Amino acid sequence: MRIVRLPAAMQRIALQWKRSGCPIGFVPTMGFLHEGHLSLVRAARRRVGPAGAVVVSIYVNPTQFAPTEDLSRYPRDWKEDLRLCRREGVDVVFAPTDAAMYAGRDAGDYSTYVAEEQLTRGLEGAARPTHFRGVTTIVAKLFNVVLPDVAVFGAKDWQQAAVVRRMVADLNFPLKVVVAPTHREPDGLAMSSRNVYLSAEERAQAVVLWRALQQARAEVKATGKSLRADALRARLTALIGTQPAARIDYVEFFDPDTMVPVDRVSRGTQLAMAVFIGKTRLIDNGKV
Ligand code: AMP
Repeated sequence: MRIVRLPAAMQRIALQWKRSGCPIGFVPTMGFLHEGHLSLVRAARRRVGPAGAVVVSIYVNPTQFAPTEDLSRYPRDWKEDLRLCRREGVDVVFAPTDAAMYAGRDAGDYSTYVAEEQLTRGLEGAARPTHFRGVTTIVAKLFNVVLPDVAVFGAKDWQQAAVVRRMVADLNFPLKVVVAPTHREPDGLAMSSRNVYLSAEERAQAVVLWRALQQARAEVKATGKSLRADALRARLTALIGTQPAARIDYVEFFDPDTMVPVDRVSRGTQLAMAVFIGKTRLIDNGKV
């Protein structure tokens, strides 16, 4: 497994692979890898086959964090990340520095950003106004550096995957976006690098996001028809409110393709939630 730090070096390797007809699978991450990330690595490997190349990027991208967010304390474990990537048969770990990715940004010499303007309006885009511009910019840059044929994203960040897919279509990136299912802990909590922030008590309460998703599914299944979104939201809000550490940022029902909120919830409607458990902001989503 190679560890590559410089975008130009990564690009050279990717171009060599391309010339020799070797397909490239790519999994962008911010590191502190868990089974959710590794399930994406396996999906990338399945897509490119044993003779293909799998690249994992590990980069905590500053432009997708607001000044008030957790950039400086975002969890990191470089040695363990490398061990896991090696174990999964990753070919290259691309781990650039900020200086390499955003040369001159602090000096005001970096000024090009990519912004998707429709799917980013609600949900995470509304709660974190500068977030998606950072995501689309870094993902576009990483695509230009890694030159993947297939890029794998997690359904855990549903809106992010949809936004990236739209960017790829709108900007004619020659690659396929694959979205892999959310990997969960045995009790249903969606795996996330940020779960490490939770105290034992908060960890126990965090499962309420999964219980809310399950309740929405059960209610829609039980009626067999559609339900009023505001009434269902009120019931889920009450359920989440039973946990003393929980504070809701949003609970939204929306069309999974357009991201537009819906008034009525039926099978196939997407539910997304952002809930603070103590100081830790967790997100989860799924089809009801
Ligand atoms: P992150 O390191 O949090 O930026 O995540 C990198 C990629 O892993 C993104 O495409 C995420 O959607 C995906 N991911 C994170 N957590 C999970 C999970 N529990 N299951 C599946 N994919 C995940």
